[in-house]
Amino acid sequence: MSTPVVSSHPDAPAIGDTRLLIDGERVDAAEGATFDIYNPSTGAVLAQVAEGRKEDIDRAVKAAKRAFEWGPWHDMKPAERAKAIWRLGDLLLEHDAELGGLETLDNGKPFLQAKGGDVVAAAGLFHYMSGWATKIEGSTIPISFPGRFHTYTRREALGVVGLIVPWNFPLTIAAWKCAPALAAGNTIVLKPSEVTPLTALRLGELALEAGIPPGVLNVVPGLGADAGAALTEHPDVAKVSFTGSTATGRAIVRGAVGNLKKVTLELGGKAPNIIMADADVEAAIAGSSDGVFYNQGEACAAASRLFAHRSVYDRVVEGISKAAEAIKVGDGFDPESFIGPLVSKAHHEKVAGYLDLGREQGTVAAGGTYSSEGGWFVKPTVLTDMGDESKVVQEEIFGPVVNVLPFDDTDEVIRRANATPYGLTAGVWTENVGTAHRIAEALQAGTVWVNCYGVFDAAMPYGGFKESGWGREMGGVVLDDYTETKTVCIKVGD
Ligand code: NAD
Repeated sequence: MSTPVVSSHPDAPAIGDTRLLIDGERVDAAEGATFDIYNPSTGAVLAQVAEGRKEDIDRAVKAAKRAFEWGPWHDMKPAERAKAIWRLGDLLLEHDAELGGLETLDNGKPFLQAKGGDVVAAAGLFHYMSGWATKIEGSTIPISFPGRFHTYTRREALGVVGLIVPWNFPLTIAAWKCAPALAAGNTIVLKPSEVTPLTALRLGELALEAGIPPGVLNVVPGLGADAGAALTEHPDVAKVSFTGSTATGRAIVRGAVGNLKKVTLELGGKAPNIIMADADVEAAIAGSSDGVFYNQGEACAAASRLFAHRSVYDRVVEGISKAAEAIKVGDGFDPESFIGPLVSKAHHEKVAGYLDLGREQGTVAAGGTYSSEGGWFVKPTVLTDMGDESKVVQEEIFGPVVNVLPFDDTDEVIRRANATPYGLTAGVWTENVGTAHRIAEALQAGTVWVNCYGVFDAAMPYGGFKESGWGREMGGVVLDDYTETKTVCIKVGD
């Protein structure tokens, strides 16, 4: 593949301050360390970012603990908290071009998608969760001693929460976690991915501007094995919420054992997406193409195993191959680009390895090539003629690669769809409402989309079955993961 022509967009935003944000102040890392971040469209160094380590995490946790225990955040009425969280959502929208541009520079994703998708989704989280700040209620419990006890529950904030986020939707996933944490009254140490720290730092600044007091939302970029591990192990952190790879998820669980902090995990996926014989095949092809190729396929929800009923299999292979070939791959600031580069050199090499394996073991129906110099580009790729047991079909590639797999009957496709350790998302395309319900019930997945794919909303719970994770993001249900239930039992009579 020839490397797409890449230009630096004149409107790309200034990168701004790349120091840590602790207790409302921009500060250098204690040891003065920095790390480089790169522009994925060119492979060139983009900036140096302060590298937080154990001591910095400790400083940030102390600030968050102080802010939780006393001061303006502790004393803030829920309605005031709601107002500040709502204002933060507004500020994200007011800065959509800047934040979208930072995401494109840092992650590579197309600017229009970053501005119109990632930033809007992040703002939506703050707006939705602000409403919950005044509605986190307990209940009164009629226990079995009438007239003697008054018993009720309170739902209380946990304290300091550590939020560890990945590089694929840096701002959006930070918002998935920060918004409910704030709505419930917690304080935060946010550790963005070392690959994409820019929008998290800006989010922290905008939170201050929105009226969220210093120390409530601290942002400490740093390496996973250092800053991430220090946050996970810190005895004053009550909970860690993590999104990333399943391997790191296991490390987080081990690291959290010391103080038995609460852990929620949103991990990998290898989503089955099933086109039944009676589906609207053209709609299914279009939706399935977006479902796997959006965001360069760098999505835990990517619809990477496309099961097509044998009666429509050839049409599906042809259709999705045409769709893949039509996709423009290029610099994220080019408005024509639907796919930007992959996020990093290391990740590009990993995806290239799967493409090489796919070429050896199966048939390349579209794409299959990747750049060898300059930016980290990969052509959207359609693979066929591969067995379910292949590594390419089983493992999360996190790139724009789909396997099309034929099937003959419903029980068979359900069994094969469920035959991975993952259980995050799934899709079904059918015109038969009974089939839709039956398959939606049978699939082991946290979200099942029917006749659509990749619909997300702040009000929709999202998370995984099996090895795809613990707990949920978004929706009212996420607040259970950011609160403790306290039972109060008062003697009121003999
Ligand atoms: P990762 O799991 O290594 O990193 C995610 C976050 O965890 C980053 O902030 C990282 O610094 C931190 N981290 C890493 N090691 C840690 C540790 N020991 N303790 C605490 N925190 C730690 O993911 P990655 O390197 O960014 O990507 C690797 C693979 O993970 C990808 O190729 C993809 O398959 C998968 N991934 C999944 C998701 C998802 O949404 N489920 C997102 C990104 C990546």
